[in-house]
Amino acid sequence: MHEVFSLSLLEIHERLKNREFDVKDLVLYVLENVKRTEDRINAFITLRDEEEIISEAEKLDASYPDYLLSPLSGIPVAIKDNISVKDMPLTCASRILLGYRAPYDATVVKKLREQNALIIGKTNLDEFAMGSTGEYSYFGATQNPVVPGHVPGGSSSGSAAAVAAGYAFYALGSDTGGSVRLPAFYTGTVGFKPTYGRLSRFGLVAFASSLDQIGIITRSVKDAELVFSHISGYDPKDSTSYPVESYSPEKLDVRILKIGVPYALLEKVKEEEIKSSVLEAIEKFKSYGIEVKEVSLPHAEHSVVVYQVVSTSEASSNLSRYDGVRYGLRIEGDDLIDTYFKTRGEGFGKEVKRRILLGTFALSSGYYDEYYARAQKLRRLIKENLDRAFQDVDAILLPTAPEFPPKLGEGIKDPVSLYLLDIFTTIANLAGIPAISLPTRRKSKAGFPLGFQLMSNAFSESRLFALARLFEEELDA
Ligand code: GLN
Repeated sequence: MHEVFSLSLLEIHERLKNREFDVKDLVLYVLENVKRTEDRINAFITLRDEEEIISEAEKLDASYPDYLLSPLSGIPVAIKDNISVKDMPLTCASRILLGYRAPYDATVVKKLREQNALIIGKTNLDEFAMGSTGEYSYFGATQNPVVPGHVPGGSSSGSAAAVAAGYAFYALGSDTGGSVRLPAFYTGTVGFKPTYGRLSRFGLVAFASSLDQIGIITRSVKDAELVFSHISGYDPKDSTSYPVESYSPEKLDVRILKIGVPYALLEKVKEEEIKSSVLEAIEKFKSYGIEVKEVSLPHAEHSVVVYQVVSTSEASSNLSRYDGVRYGLRIEGDDLIDTYFKTRGEGFGKEVKRRILLGTFALSSGYYDEYYARAQKLRRLIKENLDRAFQDVDAILLPTAPEFPPKLGEGIKDPVSLYLLDIFTTIANLAGIPAISLPTRRKSKAGFPLGFQLMSNAFSESRLFALARLFEEELDA
């Protein structure tokens, strides 16, 4: 059964169809991996009961071939624990949500269920998706399955680790400033974040609503595209959902597409090996006949500060709902106000409090213009830089992160320096455009996976995937 992990989702689907193996075999395979390594990886916050998973698999197998409704049918998937799965605990890796169960399915989960996808469990994350290492979880850090002793990146730490460790064939995460792409880069997997509004956010716990998107972590580019095409589309339950059909790849000639590279921005890379692997990827694209030219994104270097002001401002408002009355934890105080203080004081972790304080400060009356309004102006300039670039090129190639994953316990000693890991990823969230991080399948001297990022214009996922697939197919060839 071990070769199964090298198969694409479509290939697995074909084999299920031909009964070369059954859903139960897939499930036993992932459960075996979980048993072997989850003690040290800690990818799950809630793993479904083994018997329950096996009996669901048996039920599907018993209904062969009727259960095969889509290429995702019967295939194990893991879901980040800030996405609602009906009747399962929804923790956001926070103490403040202990005891809370989701009363409904997120739209993406509903879609997965309708296709008989098999949900294995809810994955670990930085509390409320705030972080870059996975270490800000009430349930403890996740370890990188590919680089022992190091973080898997965050905030979708558990989802990336689950895919890298063979606990699921793909996973859902969320990406507000890079939380799907960063852990994908750090674990040698593929992380894709769509155009804002293209995947429903209904049932995703809000962090920074104008930036949040559900994202997909897979073992290959073609899998990411496949999953995207089966869960995207307009959702009336999400007021920011864009009224377009669900994604289906456009037919296009990839060789006429052009890639832009913001060379000046590459100076922000701190690891020489990351930089050289990005330059290598550029050379590869050229050798496949793709035209590469320089683009200028003069304001993009401010992405992190803009992101921090915008995201913490929105978070300070979004997180006001955790008051000890409506959800999860409640710590009784002398009166209502005291109950708020106690519940929030003990329920939220350090990083979440830091963000709420920052955001509240940025929005406060005396400082609003100086911080929030200014950040919005810069956000617009970053978007305009990109609009201009996309008049000339179809995609922009850049690194995913400037540094390799820190050792467990090292990065969080200096929380602000962790913010800087997001310099290349936050650009796409601020502009609402799609982006993908993909591995080059090479490793650095110290054993870190190498990879890079591609971004395209809004709603141009077809071009983004076409170029990313070209790179992948050439690696496979
Ligand atoms: N690392 C970023 C942060 O700490 C991004 C988080 C995210 O995308 N959810 O906010």
